[in-house]
Amino acid sequence: MKVELINHTPEPDRSAAHAALTCYSEDIPAKEKMSKEKIEEILNKIKESGHHSVIEHASFTFAIEDVSRTLTHQLVRHRLASYSQQSQRYVDIEDFDPVVPDTIKDSERAKERFDELMEKVKDTYVELKEMDDVPLEDARFVLPNATKTNIIVTMNARELWHFFSLRCCKRAQWEIREMANRMLELVKEKAPIIFEEAGAPCVRGPCPESEEFFCGEPIEQNG
Ligand SMILES: Cc1cc2nc3c(=O)[nH]c(=O)nc-3n(C[C@H](O)[C@H](O)[C@H](O)COP(=O)(O)OP(=O)(O)OC[C@H]3O[C@@H](n4cnc5c(N)ncnc54)[C@H](O)[C@@H]3O)c2cc1C
Repeated sequence: MKVELINHTPEPDRSAAHAALTCYSEDIPAKEKMSKEKIEEILNKIKESGHHSVIEHASFTFAIEDVSRTLTHQLVRHRLASYSQQSQRYVDIEDFDPVVPDTIKDSERAKERFDELMEKVKDTYVELKEMDDVPLEDARFVLPNATKTNIIVTMNARELWHFFSLRCCKRAQWEIREMANRMLELVKEKAPIIFEEAGAPCVRGPCPESEEFFCGEPIEQNG
């Protein structure tokens, strides 16, 4: 998996604080004149008051490579984001190299069965797409959830906060959780105030999950 932050609002903390200050100023304030302390003070107030719409002015674009279709199927359930994903109608997936979960990799028997099936899938895909009357968009019906894909995703900081709460949690599936944790690290470097307490809910306080779903291992504060 490769996760890269390829674009973002310049100075996201400053941009969000500037938007917030505009709400309480007669004229639009001079963005560049805001001190670091002022930005911190405004954003901390915003977090306390729940006036979270101002962080929507900061947006972030990630290039995500070599993840499974299992992951992207979960990712695109997050509706307040923009996506562009590699097409299986236009891109020939003949050389598909599946994502293999560790539990399968670590078991000789499971890995053998998995590899056998992947070989069969690959052969069938190639055979189908070589048939004159079967287009690529139909041959792809045999491709598995493990198929690698690439996707570009853009989310604003408010949606990212929500996304991190759900997907950095230990209840989230391992692959999307790994990606969410990497995204969190990248945005924290660019917007340390906005994302200071972002992550699974247990980073900020008690776990909101019921006893049945509590993982029993809350993430350490700032961990
Ligand atoms: C651990 C885990 C297990 C899951 N298991 C399943 C499962 O078994 N089956 C399944 O189908 N899904 C499952 N999901 C996906 C889940 O149900 C959500 O679809 C996904 O997490 C997107 O979250 P969301 O809808 O809150 O957020 P987003 O789409 O990111 O939206 C953000 C927020 O905007 C608001 N919003 C967005 N759209 C609307 C709208 N149309 N109306 C009103 N408010 C809106 C809501 O407040 C929402 O929380 C699972 C997710 C997790 C994290």
